[in-house]
Amino acid sequence: IERTADMERRLAETRRETEKLRQDLDAARDDATRDALTNLPNRRAIDRKMQSFVDEGTPLAVAFCDIDHFKSINDRFGHAVGDRVLKAVAETLAQTVDPHIVGRFGGEEFVVVLPDVDGDTAFALIEKARAAVGARVMKVRDTDEQIGQVTFSAGIAICNAHPEDALREADNLLYEAKNSGRNRTIYKRAA
Ligand code: GH3
Ligand code: MG
Ligand code: MG
Repeated sequence: IERTADMERRLAETRRETEKLRQDLDAARDDATRDALTNLPNRRAIDRKMQSFVDEGTPLAVAFCDIDHFKSINDRFGHAVGDRVLKAVAETLAQTVDPHIVGRFGGEEFVVVLPDVDGDTAFALIEKARAAVGARVMKVRDTDEQIGQVTFSAGIAICNAHPEDALREADNLLYEAKNSGRNRTIYKRAA
């Protein structure tokens, strides 16, 4: 009987350890697929997500968004304020396009993945997000100083086969949006 009690104690201990390991594994998986600042899916997660839609035959629209003159926000108000602006933009973007997926692709670049959405609908949704970000009044927390309007530029492409091709096309259109004055979205319907 004493032996059985001992074995049960050890079994309970093992169960606790297994549960702890499972939680650690979940946390590690989350760290590997999420961006720490914004808590959005990271580039790796977005790449995977796009590929899985392609694999299951779901057509999708993809938008490449990049904050305008973000460097000057850092330069004028400091990196910590820049970080908070990034978080605010991420939040507004994600809320506006919900339930579609927003990821942080790099510094001040976000990618929106819109499964089963055509280009015109994606364009309308990104324009809505652009308006929402532009309408948000941002202030420096300590001084109440106005940061001014924060805007982004975007390019949209349709992805039927290769995610990287669609991302390249969207990035090219983003570049065009930057060169033609910023604070705009460009989508070119296939002829
Ligand atoms: P453009 O309108 O052409 O996009 O100009 P820009 O200033 O936004 O573009 P640029 O690529 O010159 O600058 C991006 C800046 O973003 C530079 C970099 O220091 C800043 N940045 C990147 N990641 C972070 C971050 O995590 N936090 C902060 N605060 N800044 C970041
Ligand atoms: Mg950039
Ligand atoms: Mg930028």
